[in-house]
Amino acid sequence: MAKFIFTTGGVSSSLGKGLACAALGAILQTRGLKVRLRKLDPYLNVDPGTMNPYQHGEVFVTSDGAEADLDLGHYERFTNQDATQFDSVTSGKIYSAVIAKERKGDYLGATVQVIPHITDAIKEFIKNGSEDVDIIICEVGGTVGDIEALPFFEAIRQLRNELGNKNSLLMHVTLLPYLAAAGELKTKPTQHSVQALQTLGLRPDILLCRSEHEIPEDAKQKLALFCNVNSENVIRAQDAGNIYEIPLIYHNEGLDAAVAKAFDIVTEPKLKPWEELINKLNSPRAKIRIGIVGKYVQLKDAYKSLDQAITHAGIAEQVEVEKLWIDAEDEGLLAKIQSVDGIIIPGGFGERGIEGKIQTINYARKNNVPMLGICLGMQLSVIEGCRNVLGKKDASSTEFGPTNTPVVALMTEWMSGEQKEIRGVSDDMGGTMRLGSFGCTLKDGTLAFNLYGNTQISERHRHRYEVNLQYKQALEDKGYVFSGMSPDGLLPEIVEYHPHPFFIASQFHPELKSRPFSPHPLFTGLVRACLPM
Ligand code: GLN
Repeated sequence: MAKFIFTTGGVSSSLGKGLACAALGAILQTRGLKVRLRKLDPYLNVDPGTMNPYQHGEVFVTSDGAEADLDLGHYERFTNQDATQFDSVTSGKIYSAVIAKERKGDYLGATVQVIPHITDAIKEFIKNGSEDVDIIICEVGGTVGDIEALPFFEAIRQLRNELGNKNSLLMHVTLLPYLAAAGELKTKPTQHSVQALQTLGLRPDILLCRSEHEIPEDAKQKLALFCNVNSENVIRAQDAGNIYEIPLIYHNEGLDAAVAKAFDIVTEPKLKPWEELINKLNSPRAKIRIGIVGKYVQLKDAYKSLDQAITHAGIAEQVEVEKLWIDAEDEGLLAKIQSVDGIIIPGGFGERGIEGKIQTINYARKNNVPMLGICLGMQLSVIEGCRNVLGKKDASSTEFGPTNTPVVALMTEWMSGEQKEIRGVSDDMGGTMRLGSFGCTLKDGTLAFNLYGNTQISERHRHRYEVNLQYKQALEDKGYVFSGMSPDGLLPEIVEYHPHPFFIASQFHPELKSRPFSPHPLFTGLVRACLPM
């Protein structure tokens, strides 16, 4: 049976609990341990798939097709292993499952209640698959005190008792604000949030304190005294210049040592790969600027994996990449894109910002500016070609309203493994897109083939619309190449424009598979294409 580390948050949201869990997972892996990370989100949506990116940031898609919290992206990137649909759960999912069982009569006449039925379902989720790993790190979203999180805290309280002393830890991530007037770090908000935890029957073992300053020894002693933790387990979580420095920073502050002591782990950490990664990150040999033209650019979290995929490619190529996030509706759009070395048109939904993106694609195509289009960016690349190369001026996607030239239209059927998926216009919005990993066959001699070095690839998808094959031949006659197709040859996956040195667009989201230790070829290719010859 695995040991469990539960992570809760206090004082403020956005303290980086997800990153803290991911970084801790990564350092524990360097001690030779098999870890698995999980996220419990207390909100009532069944998954974040139906939420606006401004509400919840990016929706991360697992290879088995779950629409999950963006923290799963951090988990995958730091631990270099795939998360699954069993690693992300919400109150909505737990309640739906319990209510569905009740309707079936599975509770045999019992009154169905939060305790034990909801808490049992939560515990089952947490423990699922724990036989195969050494440590499960389980993060509770939100902050202590949130009403909807109560069943999760209660489930953890019960589980900690069931697991016994040596088998679980509770790490509370908190904030020590610095009051300039007093010239001091304040511990009181943390004391209060630990009090709130203790009223739920939970006592933290580790306090991971976000703080812009060194934590003086007396503040550590005070926190230890009032919060019932060992002072050596009051650990500073220092801000990092780059998130991939976090594992080493936490290690230096003693976080993994605290876990090792609590769980009697005797192996030593082997940090060389992380040190080498940081050295590479800090020794760029060139600098480029990439413009990302999207519609959720005010909130970086909306493009978390994309942002990271660019960073990974920069590290791999030892190139400092400046990212210019450009609003597709910005009036100064053209002037801004003229200042970049390369362009990315990311995924997106709905009509807003479409014309700005099409204008950008047109600029990139005509001026030989390296460009990578992703999902919506691929659909718009084809629309731009149909409009401006084939002269079909009203070419569009049915996503943006009725059109006489639907170059992109709703997908009504596709194969998922052996199973045929069928969709209609009035289907539910939640969980009904083409989701997760699908195979793709690459055409020899194309840019895609050269970048991947392979003809068979598998990439993650999240879309409802597809490029219509009706225009394939006409486009290919003008220099476009449909270089990647679904294995049955029915769905376009990658489109390139060959008169151009680097114009490539994919229906899938390559950013979801990029990791610091295995950067994605489409992104490293883009970075290389941006370098001066
Ligand atoms: N809105 C488009 C679709 O659903 C593209 C989706 C995306 O970019 N993820 O097909």
